[in-house]
Amino acid sequence: MTGPAAQAAAVRREFERIHGRAPDGIWAAPGRVNLIGEHTDYNDGFALPMALPQTTVLAAGRREDGLLRLHSAQGDGRITELAVADLAPGPVSGWARYPAGVVWALRERGLPVGGADVHLDSTVPRGAGLSSSAALECAVAVAYDELYALRLSRPELARVAQYAENAFAGVPCGVMDQMASVCCAEGSALHLDSRSLDVRQVPFDLTGHGLRLLVIDTRVAHDLADGAYAELRAGCERAAGLLGLTALRDLSEAELPGVLTQLPEDLAPLVRHVVTENARVGRAVERLAAGEPESLGPLLTAGHASLRDDYRVSCPETDLAVEAAVAAGALGARMTGGGFGGSVIALVPSAAAASAAPSVTDAIAVAGFVTPAVLEAVPSAGARRVG
Ligand code: ADP
Ligand code: MG
Repeated sequence: MTGPAAQAAAVRREFERIHGRAPDGIWAAPGRVNLIGEHTDYNDGFALPMALPQTTVLAAGRREDGLLRLHSAQGDGRITELAVADLAPGPVSGWARYPAGVVWALRERGLPVGGADVHLDSTVPRGAGLSSSAALECAVAVAYDELYALRLSRPELARVAQYAENAFAGVPCGVMDQMASVCCAEGSALHLDSRSLDVRQVPFDLTGHGLRLLVIDTRVAHDLADGAYAELRAGCERAAGLLGLTALRDLSEAELPGVLTQLPEDLAPLVRHVVTENARVGRAVERLAAGEPESLGPLLTAGHASLRDDYRVSCPETDLAVEAAVAAGALGARMTGGGFGGSVIALVPSAAAASAAPSVTDAIAVAGFVTPAVLEAVPSAGARRVG
């Protein structure tokens, strides 16, 4: 598959073959990379994601009999058939829990949604920290918004998708991935306030500044559903409670030295990461606003050190990818996404990009790790109708 139009046409043909009817429309929702602001969303904090050109394209046709019939090109070849009225967290397993969860979450809001035929196909790598789960949820959310004339706002769609992932798929993620997938705009990064869900588009012109953003997918599967993420989240909530704060977002960098000594040893580094990471988002936005995207480099690398040493969510493969990227001429690099594997982003001068990718791949192969996949991140459009 090449461009989005060709992808949409192919998904339409497949939908017709599988479901034996025409779809009512075709929608697309992108994966994302987060430039900076990791593990801040569930602390009511800030992030700076951008959408990828890699998208999940979904064809859907409304059904009046209350059945949800789901098919994915990345599934097991079968149609999963569910009765919308009977949807409840628990019994649905596998990939179908993400799309079914969105329909369930819409019903939980009291919205009048029924069945649909669905076929989808995605170019977002799965389990790579590039948020294929949010791309899938958000594609369903925007499709249902139109199929059932719900007219939800973008932040409401993101909240529905997040609720689906939390309460139906059982993954305790924050709201950043879903906000990125529905709110990002081409050519921009998204300055997100996870408390108010206010967003600001921050122009991010890579090519105009002689830069490229490489994504190194270490192909180490992360699993956010396992306990580590939930434990970190609970640790942050405990720390905020001990400090008498609604969330760690309410602590400034200037207040940090004073409170670190009051906190239990296991919580202090978590708090230091969240507070300094929120501050790095602010600095990154200032630098982009000043038209100096190349100066993001040191912030990215500092963010990675904080994830590695304080939050402890990196792994040997991501640490090596960061080191190798910097050694190959990257201005800065960091793990992106929840961690425990996944992908690393590297901000590279265009002139060094061609040699940087094989240098990183070689360094990782020499260390005996799985050979990574390298993609390029181009700030792309958020979820939309494409056919
Ligand atoms: P990430 O969001 O970083 O890609 P997750 O573990 O959060 O990783 O989500 C990956 C899961 O989402 C997959 O294991 C699968 O269940 C589901 N998924 C995402 N995209 C698709 C797709 N195109 N088809 C079927 N399932 C998908
Ligand atoms: Mg995910």
